[in-house]
Amino acid sequence: MKKCLGAFGYLYFTDICLHMAANTAPILHNPIEYLKGVGPLRADLLKKELQIFTFADLLQLYPNRHIDKTRVSTIGSITPTTDYIQVAGRLIDYQIIGDGRGKRMVAILKDATGSLELAWFQGIGWAQKNLLIGTEYLVFGKTGFFNGRPQIVHPEIEVFAPFKAEGKAFLEPVYPATEKLKARGLNGRQIGKLTEALLQLLPKTEIPENLPAQLVSRLGLVSRYEALVHIHFPPSIAAYQAAVHRLKFEELFVAQIRLNLIRLQRQKHSRGVVFEKVGTLFTDFYNHHLPFALTNAQKRVLKEIRTDTGRGHQMNRLLQGDVGSGKTIVALLSMLLAVDNGYQSCIMAPTEILAQQHFNGLSALLHQLPINIQLLTGSTKTKERKLILEGLHNGSTHMIIGTHALIEDVVQFHQLGLVVVDEQHRFGVAQRAKLWKKAAIPPHILVMTATPIPRTLAMTAYGDLDYSVMDELPPGRQPVLTVHRNEMARASVMTFIRAEIEKGRQAYIIYPLIEESEKLSYEDLMQGYEQVKSYFPEPKYLISMVHGKQPADIKETNMQRFVKGETQIMVSTTVIEVGVNVPNASVMVIESSEKFGLSQLHQLRGRVGRGNEQSFCILLTGSKISKEGQERIHTMCATNNGFLIAEKDLELRGPGDIEGTRQSGALNFKIASIVDDKAILELAKAEAEALLEADLALDLPQNLPLKLFLQSQKGKTGWSKIS
Ligand code: ADP
Ligand code: MG
Repeated sequence: MKKCLGAFGYLYFTDICLHMAANTAPILHNPIEYLKGVGPLRADLLKKELQIFTFADLLQLYPNRHIDKTRVSTIGSITPTTDYIQVAGRLIDYQIIGDGRGKRMVAILKDATGSLELAWFQGIGWAQKNLLIGTEYLVFGKTGFFNGRPQIVHPEIEVFAPFKAEGKAFLEPVYPATEKLKARGLNGRQIGKLTEALLQLLPKTEIPENLPAQLVSRLGLVSRYEALVHIHFPPSIAAYQAAVHRLKFEELFVAQIRLNLIRLQRQKHSRGVVFEKVGTLFTDFYNHHLPFALTNAQKRVLKEIRTDTGRGHQMNRLLQGDVGSGKTIVALLSMLLAVDNGYQSCIMAPTEILAQQHFNGLSALLHQLPINIQLLTGSTKTKERKLILEGLHNGSTHMIIGTHALIEDVVQFHQLGLVVVDEQHRFGVAQRAKLWKKAAIPPHILVMTATPIPRTLAMTAYGDLDYSVMDELPPGRQPVLTVHRNEMARASVMTFIRAEIEKGRQAYIIYPLIEESEKLSYEDLMQGYEQVKSYFPEPKYLISMVHGKQPADIKETNMQRFVKGETQIMVSTTVIEVGVNVPNASVMVIESSEKFGLSQLHQLRGRVGRGNEQSFCILLTGSKISKEGQERIHTMCATNNGFLIAEKDLELRGPGDIEGTRQSGALNFKIASIVDDKAILELAKAEAEALLEADLALDLPQNLPLKLFLQSQKGKTGWSKIS
């Protein structure tokens, strides 16, 4: 029983384990070597190359295409634009050419219309042993031209036997095989032979339905059994499409059920401190000290937070707001709510610069209120630190702003009620978890991120969290004007900066930080600094420089000089990327901007356009830019909308690479794609929520198949739980 609970986290399904045996499909659990035609050698390869350990894994290795077996083309029809092709012909000759790494086998296949070269660089031994001159073969592969002759490298090849339709499926599956597998005679087509053998072993009862029958019929889905047979061996193209649709829906639906279970169970069962009233501090600040009217988005999120924190269950909310959407004030108002209810609160920021900035900003806003707010970072002096720790422990300090120094064990709170984590991607889950262990009842968590995440990604990667979006900027902002310039035009860019400085503005010049070569980027930065200095000589102009290698206090001093307007130019690596707020800065120049990812470019651009003046972002690049690099630059010039940029980023890079989601198992879909299957995802989410709304414990008889399936899949979660 304990195991069940462990795997499910918050769930209280104590009775499910008892049913598990009944739901397992013993045949599918067999190790892959038990399948006829596999054997130990191939089993080893299947495990290493394709992570296929069991029959079930093989069943869920879906084909990446099908070959129409009735369509055999002629060799004479191959042109340079031909892609994949299937031909039949006689093998008339082969030769082994070269040696060492260049060794290859080249064979000639001939039909009535022409001849085709077949080449092997790997698995030569296998090919030599198995291919017979004079025999007729059916060959499939991607064509290319070599010395003007058509050629297929590593073709899929088998003895030709004319295909007799006779009611048999004419679409033959082809699977993603690796070179090593092909060398062992397990090419993309032959894996299909294994799958065919496997399906023959499986009666319908071995693949039970896992979705509620009513849902399946209402949405017009094919059964799970039918889908799994037809995805491999479809009797028609329509049947294949129906199978794909069913499996995509199932995959996304099951994921949504899991995520929403975690979220709803937490809402229902976790204990949380109660902020029951809106007190005098909140009201006083709201009515008399708020420097501007809140945007509708800010108001909406604040309302969500108030509901969350008044319910008696722990809030675990992700707040996503584009750069400059005004998340800080939402945090502050939430913190005032905590103080009004007798609780302490903290903001954890990823860098000292940001912690300092929050501290300065919030202290200024709060200075007329009886609130004790402190700053704790790695560079807080020992004597001061002692006093701060005392204040936190005895409760006289109401709010604390800090870096990960806040996590240390010596930091003990009197009564911590709210933790705000700013710019979440910089903190690991384990780090954060340490913070909320500092209170008897876990404090409410508000995680703020300025990296917009496309909706589909948020739904899957963060679907277990409560989730707010601020998609509105404060009024009166002028969008930043973004242009692309070749670095040959740097001099004119500098002239432009000079003109802006004449007007009293300030400018950032950013150099890329190349992770693999910290040294190189440091040198780039230094060279850049010297170059900028030659354009802007002292004492007329003063330049701040900030980079990751500086000690914290130097970084801080340089930063503060820029913040105060004592320096006009900030030369920096991406350390200033997140959160830094200097409203007077109006120019952002990004050197080698083709080397940056979209979300990073957007973050950097967000450093300007914070005041009332028109701001500019200038993307400098060399002349050679990759196609993707060009698309990124183009996207940046075309839009300021962080959510659109995030969509583009997802499209260009795929979900696996989006910052902060890399480790999240939430995105390991076998067949669904959050880029291509948005509509199915929306449907799956709505259906999952409706189902749980009606039956959160999955106790209704019609939901039993689903409940059992979830249990049989345990250990497959790995969501990005914030708490
Ligand atoms: P971010 O969401 O990027 O953290 P900030 O909280 O730093 O944004 O806010 C950006 C700027 O916008 C700050 O100068 C802040 O004072 C200002 N601001 C926030 N909300 C409003 C509003 N409703 N009206 C006008 N200005 C606002
Ligand atoms: Mg911020």
